[in-house]
Amino acid sequence: MSADLEEVAAGACARVRRDVLATTRLTDDIVPRLTPEGIEYVVTRLGVPIGSRGVALRDEDRISPSAGAITVLLADLIQHYYVIDELWEAWPKCPAHEHPLEAAVVKNEAVWRCPADGSAWAPIGELGSLRSGRSGERG
Ligand SMILES: [Zn+2]
Repeated sequence: MSADLEEVAAGACARVRRDVLATTRLTDDIVPRLTPEGIEYVVTRLGVPIGSRGVALRDEDRISPSAGAITVLLADLIQHYYVIDELWEAWPKCPAHEHPLEAAVVKNEAVWRCPADGSAWAPIGELGSLRSGRSGERG
């Protein structure tokens, strides 16, 4: 398995974890692990693994991993099988609606976007700046 993929996966997990830390009370570590079929994330609490979920990768993602595609795959898993499971609520919540945002690659960048109207709200890893409000203008 390529060192490139390990590096891309580590970066992807770090970005999603930054969003989790910035917008929830969850503080667990999230690290990637390469598997024979693809890739998975592992959540550890006080050093003890408490959950993991994996996804199979296409050959092209193994050979020349795209950071955007790998970030979206891991963000989607972590969102649904870890964060929403722990919080029992929509995460990350769409600023315009009640539903959660979805991870997607838009213009080669991994972003959180609205599944209804397609608005890209924040790059994955930058949710914290969305919530605090880049402009500083609130209500
Ligand atoms: Zn929406």
